Amino acid sequence: MERPTSQADWQALRESLTLPSQAWIAGRATAAQQQKTLACVSPIDGQLLTQIARCDQADVDLAVTAARQAVNQSGWSDLAPEQRKQRLQRWADLIEAHQLELALLETLDMGKPINFSLNVDLAGSVQALRWTAEAIDKWYGELAPTPGNQLGLISREPLGVVAAIVPWNFPLLMATWKFAPALAVGNAVILKPSERSPLTALRVASLAQEAGIPDGIFQVVPGLGHEAGQALARHPDVDCIAFTGSTQIAKQLLIDAGQTNMKRVWLEAGGKSPNLIFADAPNLKKAAKVAAQAIAFNQGQVCTAGSRLLLEASIHDDFIDAVVTALQAWQPSHPLSPDTRAGALVDQAHLEQVLKYVAIGQAEGAQLRCGGQACLQDTGGSYMQPTLFAQVDADSRLAQEEIFGPVLSVQRFETEAQAIELANHSIYGLAAGVWTQDLSRAHRVARALKAGSVWVNQYDAGDMTAPFGGYKQSGIGRDRSLHAFEKYTETKSTWIRLEV
Ligand code: NAD
Repeated sequence: MERPTSQADWQALRESLTLPSQAWIAGRATAAQQQKTLACVSPIDGQLLTQIARCDQADVDLAVTAARQAVNQSGWSDLAPEQRKQRLQRWADLIEAHQLELALLETLDMGKPINFSLNVDLAGSVQALRWTAEAIDKWYGELAPTPGNQLGLISREPLGVVAAIVPWNFPLLMATWKFAPALAVGNAVILKPSERSPLTALRVASLAQEAGIPDGIFQVVPGLGHEAGQALARHPDVDCIAFTGSTQIAKQLLIDAGQTNMKRVWLEAGGKSPNLIFADAPNLKKAAKVAAQAIAFNQGQVCTAGSRLLLEASIHDDFIDAVVTALQAWQPSHPLSPDTRAGALVDQAHLEQVLKYVAIGQAEGAQLRCGGQACLQDTGGSYMQPTLFAQVDADSRLAQEEIFGPVLSVQRFETEAQAIELANHSIYGLAAGVWTQDLSRAHRVARALKAGSVWVNQYDAGDMTAPFGGYKQSGIGRDRSLHAFEKYTETKSTWIRLEV
């Protein structure tokens, strides 16, 4: 299929597309047992795309039974890692071969610009799956430093049935960060996509089968959080929940696991990340553009969004002017146009939630410097202007709560110590940016920041080679890198007495 080069091309492709709508359980597309469905509406124009199976406890029970059977009987866990690698790589090849269709599904479903769906979400998912598959037959166990009459083997074994519950902001990418390592080490995975963005998860399921992944080893149960999601979280035969989403639901999952079978719980949760700009930053012009991108990319619906901009007093006013100018390049337009940088928010309800924070900011006395309103309303879609508030109080809701939209809060600092204190004044600790050309300061501040990722003179860098996750209420555990394998395995110590 040729790569579309215009909005009209993408729209033509959309006309020829069959949208997936069924759950994927035990190797086949299935309606929900109760025949219930969920409306899948595009935030591009508010139009109904399709009705999706609305799974609940009965469907989750079927999926868990099929997963357990597949773990016990399909031989997946006992395959040589190299063979699991080959099948996962075949799956990555198939996803890549269907990347235009999948990118289009992502954009239709949650409103992000088509070029980002293609070049960030799809490219990132394929790369994450390939990287993880490639690594699995190079991952070794350990030998304990025993005395001569003992052999101590430290080995890793798959957990069994892993449920992955994911959000809507990078639907396939967040899912891949979970299912790739969980499958690679030999588990079965049941994926619960967000009710706001289920389409790509449903589409890749049949590709997994085509790639030779046994039936029951990869399943998808779309549905609501408090139905399908909760049924997985409380299921006595699910061994692990790997979650990405809000801190509020993350905490609920800890309770669910504690009240049931103490399943392993790994949480990638919310953020309110600070971006600290010192007056000696190497290139303030560039820093301002990056600060704008850090809040406007993906319409601000990024867990690591640089939503708190902390500015040294001497550059404060000029830097704000530069960010306001840079934000104008992030005004939303049609998500299917290849030139678009900002698309729609995920749905109308979320747009209203973000607008509520604009009202809160104004009531709290912060100074609205640009944006603050919905836009492109005649499209029927849910679009929002990039927004900047200055003079934001450190304890205000605007500074403390995750908005998950294109709303930037700016605060001023006088000293390095004050910058660090402001940056760490948050329940979250996912990421942070530091801009300075003083090498010692860069190291000092990076070390003092309570954040899982710190970026120096840039924002949002990283790839599969390094772990990703949060301090404090941003989560427990890390996605990506070889460390991710640890989450989906138990550690076994086997002591063998060597008789003489
Ligand atoms: P959410 O917490 O509302 O939902 C996430 C998933 O949990 C969805 O699939 C939802 O259906 C499910 N869910 C909801 N209630 C549930 C319940 N009671 N039991 C089980 N599952 C339930 O989050 P969202 O609105 O989809 O996503 C936005 C959030 O995700 C933001 O807070 C963002 O910061 C976070 N996020 C974090 C990371 C990270 O890596 N730390 C990455 C992306 C997004």
